[in-house]
Amino acid sequence: MAVLKQLTPQEIIALENKYGAHNYHPLPVVLNRGEGVYVWDIEGKRYYDFLSSYSAVNQGHCHPKIVNAMVQQAQTLTLTSRAFFNDVLGTYEKFACELFGFDKLLPMNTGAEAVETALKLCRKWAYEVKGIDENEAEIIVCKDNFHGRTTTIISFSNDPVARENFGPYTKGFIKIEYNKLEDLETALKNNPNVAGFLVEPIQGEAGIIVPQEGYLTKAKALCESYGVLFIADEVQTGIARTGKLLAVNHENVKPDVLILGKALSGGMYPVSAVLANDAVMKVIKPGNHGSTFGGNPIAAAVAIAALQVVQDENLAENAEVLGNLFRSELNKYIEKSSIVNLVRGKGLLNAIVINDTEESETAWNICLALRDNGLLAKPTHGNIIRFAPPLVLTKEQLLDCVSIIVKTLKQFEK
Ligand SMILES: *Cc1c(COP(=O)(O)O)cnc(C)c1O
Repeated sequence: MAVLKQLTPQEIIALENKYGAHNYHPLPVVLNRGEGVYVWDIEGKRYYDFLSSYSAVNQGHCHPKIVNAMVQQAQTLTLTSRAFFNDVLGTYEKFACELFGFDKLLPMNTGAEAVETALKLCRKWAYEVKGIDENEAEIIVCKDNFHGRTTTIISFSNDPVARENFGPYTKGFIKIEYNKLEDLETALKNNPNVAGFLVEPIQGEAGIIVPQEGYLTKAKALCESYGVLFIADEVQTGIARTGKLLAVNHENVKPDVLILGKALSGGMYPVSAVLANDAVMKVIKPGNHGSTFGGNPIAAAVAIAALQVVQDENLAENAEVLGNLFRSELNKYIEKSSIVNLVRGKGLLNAIVINDTEESETAWNICLALRDNGLLAKPTHGNIIRFAPPLVLTKEQLLDCVSIIVKTLKQFEK
């Protein structure tokens, strides 16, 4: 049997550099173990994970109940394709539909695929139910959105790094300002071809931009009055991250189409979904859409376990309470700080804004120092650092993390 030589962190990073496409810019730390809120590097150093894989690991690393569901299912049946029925998918669909309050679920794998699914669903509904002329449907999106990386999705991004030289772009999207109801109304008014409004309840990649209170309620009401589908991308904000099961629950808004991913599997496996009521979902007929892996038995078993953990461990309540504590503790420091301008967020989806230009290296350097002090985080945009720990964090751990963050920021005060 071949014995694997233990590589140094430098050797592992060099391997990726040489043989992997350079489509990411990772923080230099090489991890090989995770448990709950912690990850360990290959030299045994422990860190708090304050990214949670972009909020995919809300339930904590390697949650035993989710691991168990995955292992059991992997030993029983892994993939049937949707050419046949499997004995887990229907149970998962019922569980998720009842939990989120929708008639039907369409299972996919990645977040981007679920967004694509929602866009196709919205267009088909527009032609077959709303009665828009063929190829005329338009979907409203927001400036600085992040919905994934496919050709169509980057077509309506305004991030030059994500877009440039990937054209020609998909047509049929109207871009408006986020958090500006007048812009939404203007886009809806006098345009009978609008089919849907795709929105993040909090813009994650843009830097944890929380809209004013009432924005989602009023946006939903506008969509309703113009007969347009309100499509919520909760891939990052959903599954208890912001202190409620869904971020739209803060305003009691019920989307027409709900997009989930990331923590839907507790970070164990790529599982995403689109949920809608029959009036919308009925337009999808056999052959219209699909995925070989979508709704496979492992995905279904893992998602049931992952959602069960969110409920059993009251992760939404924990995120709400600890999020308030996190922001109030950090605010005490920020009052006297010259390096941090503010902390913002909801639940355990937060960010600090560094007092420096977007092009500066300061946020990156702070993340390197946080790493050295035992906490892993990553800048979103140049000068913004996102803090999104697993939701199984305890109050004691949170206060420990606040002191690591404060100690680190102090190193950067001028
Ligand atoms: C991460 C993310 C996606 C894309 O998910 P992938 O699994 O990376 O394709 C879509 N929308 C939002 C809001 C996200 O945060």
